[in-house]
Order: sequence, then structure tokens, then C-alpha cells
Amino acid sequence: MKKLVTKNRDQASELGAHHLYGTIPVLERDFLLDRLSRHLQDHEIVARRDKTGLNVDLPDLSARLITAHDGIRIDLASADLERLYFTKVWLDEAIQEAGGADVAEILWDDHTLTGMPPSFCILTVASTEDISPRLRRISFLTRHVHRFNTMEQMHLRLLMNFNEVSQASQSGCPIKPIWRVYTVRQFDEQTSTLVVDFVLHDEDGAGTEWAKRALIGECLGAAGPCGGGYSHSDTALIAGDETALPAIARILASLDPEASVKVICEAETEADILAMPSRAEVEVNWLLRNGRQSRLADHVFSEAEKNRNFTGLWVACEAGEAKALRRQLQGIDHSFRNLRIFSYWHKEPA
Ligand SMILES: Cc1cc2nc3c(=O)[nH]c(=O)nc-3n(C[C@H](O)[C@H](O)[C@H](O)COP(=O)(O)OP(=O)(O)OC[C@H]3O[C@@H](n4cnc5c(N)ncnc54)[C@H](O)[C@@H]3O)c2cc1C
Repeated sequence: MKKLVTKNRDQASELGAHHLYGTIPVLERDFLLDRLSRHLQDHEIVARRDKTGLNVDLPDLSARLITAHDGIRIDLASADLERLYFTKVWLDEAIQEAGGADVAEILWDDHTLTGMPPSFCILTVASTEDISPRLRRISFLTRHVHRFNTMEQMHLRLLMNFNEVSQASQSGCPIKPIWRVYTVRQFDEQTSTLVVDFVLHDEDGAGTEWAKRALIGECLGAAGPCGGGYSHSDTALIAGDETALPAIARILASLDPEASVKVICEAETEADILAMPSRAEVEVNWLLRNGRQSRLADHVFSEAEKNRNFTGLWVACEAGEAKALRRQLQGIDHSFRNLRIFSYWHKEPA
């Protein structure tokens, strides 16, 4: 498989950066930029909209979308090639989501769609096991396990259409890679094994579909580590839905005996409850939906309001619940010094 290729047009840039350029061939430029700006806000990304276009400035990335006669010109810049690669993947998806079916795809100036990110590696399925009705544990063999030995970045990206992308790149007709983020639940450098727990949710997306059919010996593309980690606090409130159970289990297993933690795990039914071993003082409460809507944000908020002794809050769940919780917490004088609320997945509007 080809490695990532970028053009570096600017001699000197504030970020000392690599650039990626592209064009969205669209006539309704302002309409699309307004929608994209709202879409970014929904994902908690601050974007500046002005007469010339849309600007996003993050510590390690800048994105400029500028209106031009032939559409919207894109200039992405970052010193980190991995960051650039996944921003490009993300922007491809965001433009389709924000613009709907009528918007043409981004025309990138170079052919990076066939390339792979710098940290790309290949995993081989070693075993599969259903650890609960909705959670399938898959163990992989890889030479790169040592990379994932970090609590700062507990996750990895999986290339769900690895076989199709490999075949297409060999035939010279590249197709778009489909990446999904998962948590490294366990790893063992001695046996070169890395374990991921996949939620098998009802509407099959690429990740769920792959996990349902995975066969021993099959290969899958991966990149990472990536994503946020856990900052230790003496007393913490930790919460999440099924997608966060692997991360919560890993966090609890990593705690010092002195730590004191309250956990709220949301799952569908009693059969989905898992053991969460830890050396710390841990109280785990299970919130069962049993076919109802999620109530995670309300429960976490009520716990935070009741008990002002927690110094850490770590929550990962559906984007709507995460947003609701952030809003609720703004209204109270809470005690959290380490506050991290992650959106792990997005419910499609009905
Ligand atoms: C940092 C991070 C760590 C994560 N760790 C894990 C992990 O260890 N295990 C894990 O299973 N997931 C994890 N997730 C969540 C996972 O990336 C998403 O659930 C992802 O959308 C699944 O991809 P998919 O292709 O199956 O579904 P998509 O193609 O993304 O979505 C298809 C449809 O399914 C719905 N959907 C997506 N996810 C869910 C869900 N969880 N429950 C119900 N409906 C859903 C969508 O709303 C959509 O309608 C993590 C996410 C992040 C950001």
C-alpha cells in the first residue's frame, strides 16, 4: 500500500506545516459554508465565519475554506502528517453530512486518497468471543503492540474496508477508506496481542458489520494510538454507555489503590453487565435502558450536583448526551479540576 503523499507549497508557514489543498466544486458556496459552520459547532469545534469563508484554528492544525469562482478552496495545514490525513478524511465526511446528497465530493489536489497515514499497521484476527449479548471481543496479533502502551491515548483507528482498499489500490482505482475509532481494551507485548471490544449495535455501520463477520486469520488496517486519555484524580466520577465500557474497564484497571471512584455505566439489559476489576475503591452503578432512551446525562449531572467532592469527571457517550451534560454543568458551580466529556458516537436524526 502507498504511503501518504503531500505537497508543500508554502515556503514558510506559522505551523512549519505540510499543506493539503482541495476544491469543493459547488455554486451555493455561502449556503454550504454556513451549514458546515453549524456542523462543526455540533462537534464542539470552534470555526470563524467571515465574508471570505470559514477558518478553524487549533493548536496543531489550521483549516481555511475560502470562496472562489469555481467553488470553495480548501487549505489544510499541520506539522503532523497523521493529523492532516485524518482531518482530510473527516472533512470528506463532514462535507457530505453538511451538504447532503447534492454536494459534489472534494477534489483534492494530490492523490492522497490512495495513501495510508504514517502510523498505518496491519492487524490479524487471532480470536473472537461474545462477552455479552452486544459486545464482541476480538483479539488481534500485531508487531506494533508496544505503541499502544499508553493511557494518554487509549484508542486506535481501524480501517473497516481494508480488503477493498487494498484491492482497489493494487488495481489503480482507489476507493475511500472507512475509518472508525475504537478503544484498545487490553494489550500484551509478550504475546503481541491487542484486544478490542466492539459494540454490535442495531443499525449496521461499517464497524459493526465487520465485527459481526470477522474471521480468524483475517487482516484489518489500523492506525494510532489516538484520542484522549484519562487524567488521574483522587476522587472521580466516571461514566459512559456501551461504547465507553472498554475505556472505563481499562481506566479502572489502571487506578492506584488510593483512588476513590464512582462509576455510572449505561447498558441495554441486565445481561450486558460486565465485571470491572480494580485495585481502587470503586462503586459501579449500572443504568439499564431496557428499550428506553438514554438517561445518562441526567444521572451524571444529578450525581455531580449531589456530591461536590469529586475532583475528576470523565464521561464518554452519544454526542447528544455529551452536549446535554456539558450544558447542564455550565449551570452549576462544580468541583471538577479534570473535566473530560467525549462524544463517542452520533445518533442519526430519525
Ligand atoms: C475515542 C473513541 C473510542 C471508542 N471506543 C469504542 C469501543 O471500544 N467499542 C465500540 O464499540 N465503540 C467505540 N467507539 C464508538 C464507535 O467508534 C462508534 O460507535 C462508531 O460509530 C461505530 O461505527 P459503525 O460503523 O458500526 O457505525 P456508523 O456507520 O458510525 O453508524 C451507523 C448507524 O449506527 C448508529 N450507531 C453508531 N454507533 C452506535 C452505537 N454505539 N449504538 C447505537 N447506534 C450506533 C449511528 O447513529 C448510525 O445510525 C469509540 C469512539 C471514540 C470516539
